[in-house]
Amino acid sequence: MLNSFVEHPEIRERFAELHPPLTAQAAVVESNRCLNCFDAPCMVACPTHIDVPGFIKRIASGNLRGSGRKILEANVLAGSCSRVCPVEVLCEGACVMHRYDRPPIQIAQLQRHAMDAFHHSGEPLISVPAPQINLRVACIGSGPASLACAAELRRHGAQVTIFERRALPGGLNTYGVAEYKLPTADSLREVALIRQTGVEFRLSAAIESAADLAVIESQFDYIFLGVGLGAMQKLGIEGEEAIESGETTGVLNALQLIAAYKTGHLMRMRGAVVVIGAGNTAIDAAVAARRLGADPVTMLYRRGPGDVSAFDFELAHARHEGVQFIWNSLPVAIRSLKGKGLQLEIQSVHLVDGKFEPAAGSQHSISCQTVIPAIGQSPLIEMLQDYAAVKMQNGRVVVDLDTCETSNPRIYAGGDCANGGREVVDAVADGKRAALGILKAHCAAKESLHD
Ligand code: SF4
Repeated sequence: MLNSFVEHPEIRERFAELHPPLTAQAAVVESNRCLNCFDAPCMVACPTHIDVPGFIKRIASGNLRGSGRKILEANVLAGSCSRVCPVEVLCEGACVMHRYDRPPIQIAQLQRHAMDAFHHSGEPLISVPAPQINLRVACIGSGPASLACAAELRRHGAQVTIFERRALPGGLNTYGVAEYKLPTADSLREVALIRQTGVEFRLSAAIESAADLAVIESQFDYIFLGVGLGAMQKLGIEGEEAIESGETTGVLNALQLIAAYKTGHLMRMRGAVVVIGAGNTAIDAAVAARRLGADPVTMLYRRGPGDVSAFDFELAHARHEGVQFIWNSLPVAIRSLKGKGLQLEIQSVHLVDGKFEPAAGSQHSISCQTVIPAIGQSPLIEMLQDYAAVKMQNGRVVVDLDTCETSNPRIYAGGDCANGGREVVDAVADGKRAALGILKAHCAAKESLHD
């Protein structure tokens, strides 16, 4: 399954990690700082409720194996989460050390230390498999929500098949997270661990229509929808379509860019690049363009620096990498310079009664080689539009918040298609919740048969 991916040394080198891992000695020293709080706020702040003091205590006592197992009890994607979670606003943000004006415990780095050791040990995820139960579940999509759902169901003995439209499993973790945060190879090793538990993966197997979904529904007892979000939204400006599909390949959206370099299909960029948008994905794309050789790289945003949706530390990181910014401006048109790159027309704007009004006489153009739209993703819901049994609202699947059950009692959903684009750890929490919801419904159905 994973043989089709070959890690490219040049990409690994160019996208060297931002934060190198802790040494064994540093991990012990750091773990001994933890106060082992009784009502640990770090644990409450984690959407998957990892027993933070429990795993840190094990690192301090030299029990790395026990630490890894403690973490995996709560979160099978804990390795990824230790790299990509915005811990400043989750566990580390809640650490009591802040109250004493001391730096928070480096929970993410300690978690990574334990998970790296676990992965290197070659130990399986489940040492004692649960007895098989007569329950077949199909997970659509192989991103964090589906992986967490599948792992939890396997832990209880269900038979699980994951359907993935792309060639590699892992969804966002494999294709969409900046390589210097989470290398593709590390995402795949986590998937491999879940696969070893007996989860079946069907790759390059797209389930894209209501008819496909109906076939799956006829073959499985329950379906979990973990389809994530869809394609990047279009800018909707003159020239975008023509250039995208025409002789110039100068418009490439942020997700296409990230997936292309992570899989070794894009090794270099040259000339000027303009990224449209200022969210976390836009920043990942801008930093990627810089590291691939583009110069200058400019982010264009319709509001000011205080209004960006990206985290502050992401914005600071982009600045540190040499990314430049044009604030309070919108793209108006893209024109091809006939083999000599692109001309991006832009317009300064200001907000009047909630609407962006152009500033008179402010229109001008920037020459560049590539324009990268990064203005958010649309929900991947085409197949559900015609599937009346699943209720949708504002482009998202409506689910019960406790069980992730949809309006169709045999279909559950979680992750971005239901919660609209939160963190990887939220998707993992959804997947677990859905698995427990499915198991509960399965037991209830069995009991009613015996009544
Ligand atoms: Fe340790 Fe901080 Fe969590 Fe307390 S809040 S248990 S000090 S990591």
